[in-house]
Amino acid sequence: MSNRSFEYSGRSPHVIFATGSRSRLAEQAKKLDCGTLIVLATPEQQDIAEEMHGHLGSASAGIFAKATMHTPVHVTEQAMQELRDRKAGGILAVGGGSTIGLGKALKLRSRLPYIALPTTYAGSEVTPILGETSGGEKTTIRDHSLMPDIVIYDPDLTTSLPVSMSIVSGINAIAHAAEGLYAADRNPISSIAAIEGIRALRTALPVIKSSPQDKKGRADALYGAWLCGSVLGSVGMALHHKICHVLGGSFDLPHAETHAIMLPHSISYNADAATEALAPLRELFGERIAGGLYDFAASLGAPLALRNFGLTERDLDKASDLAVKNPYLNPRPIERGAIREMLQNAWEGNRPE
Ligand code: NAD
Repeated sequence: MSNRSFEYSGRSPHVIFATGSRSRLAEQAKKLDCGTLIVLATPEQQDIAEEMHGHLGSASAGIFAKATMHTPVHVTEQAMQELRDRKAGGILAVGGGSTIGLGKALKLRSRLPYIALPTTYAGSEVTPILGETSGGEKTTIRDHSLMPDIVIYDPDLTTSLPVSMSIVSGINAIAHAAEGLYAADRNPISSIAAIEGIRALRTALPVIKSSPQDKKGRADALYGAWLCGSVLGSVGMALHHKICHVLGGSFDLPHAETHAIMLPHSISYNADAATEALAPLRELFGERIAGGLYDFAASLGAPLALRNFGLTERDLDKASDLAVKNPYLNPRPIERGAIREMLQNAWEGNRPE
């Protein structure tokens, strides 16, 4: 940042980061002085929810294991009803972005205290952002009051995350930080967090790929995810997040996989317009950062082509039209022709030049 001018306001939940820290759940719940907490999870993570229910003991109001992608309002309403019926005084979410999103939706409606235990690298637990869906429409809310009060990062909770999901989720986190580096409203703290977060994930993901249970690899990845999530929560995102929003929202592409495929292409699009901001990534991914990111994803076995996720070549025109509508602030001007070309490359899985 050659011209030293910035605005900064630090707002974060209280963060506890330690292996085994889920055992401190009851102590943390007591601090919130809220009576009992309802435990949220997806149906696939019922077992982890039961473990948290056990840690809470008499402070548990029971489990609601129906969290699902895109935070549908009808599921939130069902969870609100359960919360009232069980007279819960607080919310506990254990899971990835989908479950943490449900926790935010409940907090927004109930104003009850909220503890989150993330089990992926998506980073939602440290952002004031909630995307809700109703009748096929997605609404995004940005409100600091919906953030968790306490986030407990316990790397042990991530060892069950399958390797393929760990890799795409980790690259999803890298994408938050990479766009944070060239955000128009970036500040020294967000840039330091972005570089440190990407560095941690750059080191950890190959370790997880070869040894999924490696404790240090898992802890490093979750640490990186916290930093990258904090960047997403504090500065504005650009082209990459806009495109992923379009591909997920209008074509139902999977969240983390889409981020993993698009990242090298979005960085390639912006590389010449954000040379100075992206410079710290050269040390991690080589002189040609976009190509280096592509090689990194390929070496980890991450998906590389949009066409493998149900998107047809004909969809690319519509996706380009949507991507240029109401664009987010971006270092390089958004040009329809260049966006269409970028999407073609991502669809085919080409290495960006
Ligand atoms: P997810 O929460 O949808 O989880 C995907 C699947 O993995 C689920 O079945 C889940 O139960 C399972 N899973 C999660 N952790 C596991 C573990 N440790 N072991 C075994 N299985 C596990 O995936 P995600 O990528 O974390 O979240 C995606 C959602 O979060 C999207 O809807 C996205 O829009 C949202 N999101 C929001 C923000 C925000 O700031 N608002 C940020 C990132 C993502």
